[in-house]
Amino acid sequence: MSYAYDATNIFARILRGEIPNKTVLETAHSLAFEDIRPQAPVHVLVIPKGPYVSYDHFAREASEAEIVDFTRAIGEVCKMTGVALDGGNGFRAVSNAGMDGVQEVPHLHVHILGGRDLGRMLQ
Ligand code: IMP
Repeated sequence: MSYAYDATNIFARILRGEIPNKTVLETAHSLAFEDIRPQAPVHVLVIPKGPYVSYDHFAREASEAEIVDFTRAIGEVCKMTGVALDGGNGFRAVSNAGMDGVQEVPHLHVHILGGRDLGRMLQ
């Protein structure tokens, strides 16, 4: 079975420049921008430019260059927003997938949340 990617999703439209975004970082294979409904003082979404639905899709089908770029972009966003552990108070990185993960936008994204005590997520 293969993954189905819907190119009409809102992040695909952001990548095509059809709708605006508040860009935090752009690299060769990734884009980071502010979440439109922030849940914390820092709430940035990091997405690969390639057409991947979820982290499992990306990890299985993306090139090593894309995977390295995306991972480094996440680290860079943490640093740029002041939540990285070399100076900041920390963050949460979350990627919702599919129906049970309650994923709203079917293009892989990692939420970087920080700037406040986020509480315990798992009991
Ligand atoms: P999900 O539930 O993990 O799929 O979260 C999708 C996220 O995308 C939510 O936090 C939304 O606020 C965010 N979002 C939806 N549309 C836009 C947009 O146009 N720009 C920035 N963030 C968006």
